[in-house]
Amino acid sequence: MSKELTPFSTWTFKVPNFEKEAAKASALAEAIRNAATQEECLKLIRSYFKMADRLSDVMNIIYVRYTCDTTDPKLIKAIGALDEGTPILTNAENGLKKAILESPFRPYLEKKLGSHLFTMYQFALDSFNECILEDAIEENKLVTEYNTLIAGCKVEFRGGTYNLSQMGKFMQDLDRETRREASEAYFGYMETRVDEIEAIYDKLVKLRDGMAKKLGLPNYIALGYLRMGRYDYNQEDVAFYRDQIAEFVTPLAGKIARAQFKRVGIAKPQIYDLSLMFKDGNPMPYGTTQEKIERAKQMYDALSPEASHFFREMADYGLLDLETRPGKQAGGYMTYFPVHRVPFIFSNFNGTLGDVDVLTHEFGHSFQGFMGRDIKVPDYRSPTMEGAEIDSMSMEFFAHPYMHLFFENPERYRYVHLADSISFLPYGVTVDEFQHWVYLHPEATPQERDEEWCRLEEKYTPYKRACYGDCSYMAKGHRWLTQGHIFGSPFYYIDYTLAQVMAFQFFNLDRKDHDKAWKKYLRLCKLGGKYPFRTLVTKGSLKDPFAPGTIAKTIRPLVKVLASYDVD
Ligand SMILES: [Zn+2]
Repeated sequence: MSKELTPFSTWTFKVPNFEKEAAKASALAEAIRNAATQEECLKLIRSYFKMADRLSDVMNIIYVRYTCDTTDPKLIKAIGALDEGTPILTNAENGLKKAILESPFRPYLEKKLGSHLFTMYQFALDSFNECILEDAIEENKLVTEYNTLIAGCKVEFRGGTYNLSQMGKFMQDLDRETRREASEAYFGYMETRVDEIEAIYDKLVKLRDGMAKKLGLPNYIALGYLRMGRYDYNQEDVAFYRDQIAEFVTPLAGKIARAQFKRVGIAKPQIYDLSLMFKDGNPMPYGTTQEKIERAKQMYDALSPEASHFFREMADYGLLDLETRPGKQAGGYMTYFPVHRVPFIFSNFNGTLGDVDVLTHEFGHSFQGFMGRDIKVPDYRSPTMEGAEIDSMSMEFFAHPYMHLFFENPERYRYVHLADSISFLPYGVTVDEFQHWVYLHPEATPQERDEEWCRLEEKYTPYKRACYGDCSYMAKGHRWLTQGHIFGSPFYYIDYTLAQVMAFQFFNLDRKDHDKAWKKYLRLCKLGGKYPFRTLVTKGSLKDPFAPGTIAKTIRPLVKVLASYDVD
């Protein structure tokens, strides 16, 4: 039985003693090796699941508290302990996984637990062993260093000091002069941090390349794919997929950009004009954060009983930390506490329409978390990243009919959301191809990396590069320096684009037959991570994004939808 839920603010935590936990894991591995019967072996494995849940619950509490305040010395110390401790734990857990894989009762265990778990464990063993333990600790520290640097960025603008996320609102301001000044302040400030950030990345790349080679892999690309759990697709599939995006989506994204500049009447668009979708400004959501939460409650009440129940639970128990503030880590995420059996949403609201996307996107993740919470095997509760992003990105589209709750002109929101989702694909594959190049050329200099970034922007988003005129930061190929995934979660980014294509499929179906689409979505959420990505997609009756024709077929109906929105 799980404990009765109390508000998040009352939860306490104790930093785990990782040496002790590792010793426990090793003892458990020994017991599994010595198990006399298959039933006993299974029981021991189930006690490992409990241990994994307990540790992931407490580590997630620490992570959430730290990201909410990266300046608190107590939390800095705690996150430091995690950075040091998790590789030790991973190492011990791998010993346990090895014992399970080598168990003489394996056929029985596979029947009871599903064979995919054993593939997952094999990937875990192939991607980590003791010889890279110190490197893994160093890697965590470098990522934390990067995150702390970005969270601590302070931009001076018109007498105030703002973090990067807070600057977003000024950079989208209706007044062109404000946008220009804000963007000058932002990029001018970022110029002063370029060398530090490039230096962190340089260390990360060389470190990761070395880790791959110690594991006997040709380069970090191979290790990255193992770490991301790419069980049923490879680099060639991804390269083919990127080409499909360049062929079918880049021209459309260019068209969307040209229509945008025409609509806002700017002949020579600059970087700070890219975000302005309408002459009289982008749609801005109503109200304060609390009011947005109230409106989200109404939306989920109308959408489905499950969504209503779960969203209310999150709001009532303080499981949402939405507003940006100094010292808070950048970005947004959802995480899950397996002992408390609830998720948590973290974001940086800045008053723009992106705030509403958080309420739908991160709640989509949370919703999957709720739907999968009765799954006993922890590794099956949620899918790998591409699968997980289907749940969140599709929820953004299921929310379309309710946008009148947040915007005076909901049609404009729908237009911006769909247009941005389409334009996101070429950017997303840029980030992906960039990382493939980086890890294939680990010896490259920071300048060569920037040049490669520029080349890829030319390939996938030439319409954006055409706007870099005044902005040397962007023209020199520095856009990627604030793309946190490149630092903290290598090769993650393509997952968003794969999921986006799947979400478009849900959107296409939802417009035709909502009940059918929602049922299909529920089924997918409940499947959790029982299957690898492509199998999951097929089980969910969706079209494989790597198959020839899928991109074109999925995108085609969207062109008509975009044209149908009355936004002028
Ligand atoms: Zn997401």
